Amino acid sequence: MKAKKTLNAVAKACLLAGIVSGTVFGSMTAAAETIAIKAARVITDPALPPRGTSIILVENGRITAIGDDIAVPKDARTIDLSGYTVMPGLIDTHVHLTFDPNIRWNPVTETREYAVAITLHHAETLARAGFTTVRDLGPDQFFSQAARDAVAAGLHPGPRIIAAAKLSIIGGHGEPARMNPEVMDALDHGTSCTGAEECAAKVRLAFRNGAQAIKIMATGGSMTPGNALGQHFTDTELTSIVKTAHGLGMRVAAHSSGADGVRAAILAGVDTIEHGTFGQDAEAKLLRQQGGALSPTLSALDHVRRTVGTGVYSPLVDQKNAEVARVVGRMFQAARRAGVRIVFGTDSGVYPHGEGAHEAELMASLGGMTPTEILTSATTTAAAELDLSSETGSIAAGKAADIIAVEGDPLKDVSALKNVRFVMTRGAVIRNDKADQGSQDGAGARSGI
Ligand SMILES: [Zn+2]
Repeated sequence: MKAKKTLNAVAKACLLAGIVSGTVFGSMTAAAETIAIKAARVITDPALPPRGTSIILVENGRITAIGDDIAVPKDARTIDLSGYTVMPGLIDTHVHLTFDPNIRWNPVTETREYAVAITLHHAETLARAGFTTVRDLGPDQFFSQAARDAVAAGLHPGPRIIAAAKLSIIGGHGEPARMNPEVMDALDHGTSCTGAEECAAKVRLAFRNGAQAIKIMATGGSMTPGNALGQHFTDTELTSIVKTAHGLGMRVAAHSSGADGVRAAILAGVDTIEHGTFGQDAEAKLLRQQGGALSPTLSALDHVRRTVGTGVYSPLVDQKNAEVARVVGRMFQAARRAGVRIVFGTDSGVYPHGEGAHEAELMASLGGMTPTEILTSATTTAAAELDLSSETGSIAAGKAADIIAVEGDPLKDVSALKNVRFVMTRGAVIRNDKADQGSQDGAGARSGI
């Protein structure tokens, strides 16, 4: 009896702590200060003409005004970004914060606590590269959620993180497979399901545990040794997952490689096709008809292409990567022809974090997207996909102060996104190259963390 009582007391205390701290939804502790950003050129929204000389007023993490004749409060800290193009922070809807080719969590030898440390480290790298919002698509919702909440509480620099829960079939993409069964049992973290009922239950459980989106492995993946690249979940399972997630207000992002799996995921009503690797015109037209979007992840496909035959991956993986390498950009080009909405997503973590601007270059070179289209995809379109349009994606009064500055003009050449010089996430300055070089402007740039 005594043990039961203690357990109940602990459960109640935990529940209370969760509700009080607001960790379920992520509370933001904004720096209580006023910042006046001086700019000579501002892209407030890539679809609108850029502004000239402007002042952007930021109070307690939010943009309160933008204009050229704004009265700056006496106690405001001034940051001069007049040598740069100021623009909304970038949004990447497809990242893996726990992975990176260089720093990669090993679930066999390293703890889950260490995985969270890696996750936070990569989150900061992405933020410093200009990404002020990212959606983490796994491997584990709890890593993303821990990082999301720590960043939102102001404990660590990083982007706003949307944490997704991952679901695969047993032995599917990202799941343990072809090992000693006892080892696989130990590595199993409940991210697979079988049948409509169990899959719905897993989605509900993920929601209960704090996930904000569902990532499904609709097909096999080239990076998982052994499995084929075609459809994995059955049509019934896919429909169950999508309906349950939508009922709970969560979007579904579907890793989709083989064309049969791409079609099945689209027909089940997923919100985004991730990669869509072997899709062609028929799949792109279907996606357009169903109202879904494509997250092209060209950087990852390009990375795969560049590593084939180099010995980076095992022969089993390399064999599938060689198939992928032959069709890099195919679904993306078909989607462009079909008029499919393109949501900026890179698969950062498959290649080193911080190189997301390369995606923009590939969108231009492989699909002929204009700089305006690319910037829109990485700001307002991505914000809408994450249900964050009222919060971020453009520079406007009332929105969170997610602001970056780059050298050059990204509306002329998207390669300028490689030259990020200043990053503010929800009002916290986490990068200011000018200040770091000893200028008076923006001194104490790091104090906003
Ligand atoms: Zn991915």
